Amino acid sequence: MSKLPNIGTSIFTVMSKMATEYDAVNLSQGFPNFPVDKRLTTIVAQLASENVHQYLPMAGYPPLLTKIAQLTYRSYKRTIRTDTEILVTAGATQGIFTTIQALIKSNDEVIILDPSYDCYEAPVLLCNAKPVRVPLNDNYTPNWEKIENACSSKTKMIIINNPHNPTGKIWIHSDFEALENILQKYPEMIVLSDEVYEYITFEKKHISAHTRENILNRCIIISSFGKSFHVTGWKIGYLIAPEHLMKEIKKVHQFLVFSVNSICQVAISNYLDLVSVEEISQLYIEKRNYFCALLKESRFKLLPCEGTYFQVASYASISNENDVDFCKRLITEHGVAAIPISTFYENNKDNHLIRFCFAKDNATLEKAAKKLCAI
Ligand code: PMP
Ligand code: GLN
Repeated sequence: MSKLPNIGTSIFTVMSKMATEYDAVNLSQGFPNFPVDKRLTTIVAQLASENVHQYLPMAGYPPLLTKIAQLTYRSYKRTIRTDTEILVTAGATQGIFTTIQALIKSNDEVIILDPSYDCYEAPVLLCNAKPVRVPLNDNYTPNWEKIENACSSKTKMIIINNPHNPTGKIWIHSDFEALENILQKYPEMIVLSDEVYEYITFEKKHISAHTRENILNRCIIISSFGKSFHVTGWKIGYLIAPEHLMKEIKKVHQFLVFSVNSICQVAISNYLDLVSVEEISQLYIEKRNYFCALLKESRFKLLPCEGTYFQVASYASISNENDVDFCKRLITEHGVAAIPISTFYENNKDNHLIRFCFAKDNATLEKAAKKLCAI
């Protein structure tokens, strides 16, 4: 009998596979297709012949832990302890899975805000716990009344994702204030803050949970080097948590992964001496603006995009089909792959919206836009 009877293959796998089969321009799964920074590839090439091929300490390569602490201080003015509060993970996905396995018990409830990224629900179900999906408002801001109504003494965790995949929405201060009010009423509840797109924001500045002092002792914050440094295939990220939670998280991590692959850890550590995270938003704002300008004459209506490398678009003036069928036809008849937004909802709510990934070189964006404008 299946432990996850209602979980199928991830939509990102399905759409990328279909894009390959039909030789479509793949703007579905979120990964960059432009070359990785030469400074980083040079470091990796050199490291291959050095003595970096054995297990590293369980929590991470010590110089990398120091640099993560420095980066966190530079970005958010938060001081963290390298020995007790940082864990390098095999991508954000493993950080999220490990955290949930370590901290959620049978019959606990975990609040997930819909539309939501797909890796939150399964680990909750595997704990015999209950995911409680709460819809965001129509403009994708959190609906605090609905969230509070969903909370009870059973609620152990709320998962927040900011900047938000798929909508690109960014929280404002009053959202954190509302969250903090709820947390005061439910002292057992902790926060899992997925901030993998923290360095991809545009006109509005990202507010990190790192800056919310009142909640830091009950908050796990997830980051991804794969996203920040355009190396999604490396599967490397990290989480920051207070010592009492980290102690539990490390108990699971040591038997799931033990330590994350050594070359990537040392390479990222050395690269952090050279790179500035401010470069990342600059790169992506140009890509977002270029892609949106290319689609200006199309029949797609583009929604605001405040962060991430995803652009949501409405196809309501083109077709009445549901978004999954529309995305399939977009591949088979028009040669462009996108992600249907309904798959981010528990009830597959369909608003005729699809998501394009614009983390692509200009030639790819131009090729896709030409096809999209012809529809
Ligand atoms: N969270 C969100 C919101 C994401 O979009 C992704 C996609 N990569 C992840 C987590 C997983 O990141 P990683 O590839 O580092 O596991
Ligand atoms: N985070 C990526 C996206 O939203 C997908 C990563 C994956 O396929 N697991 O497209």
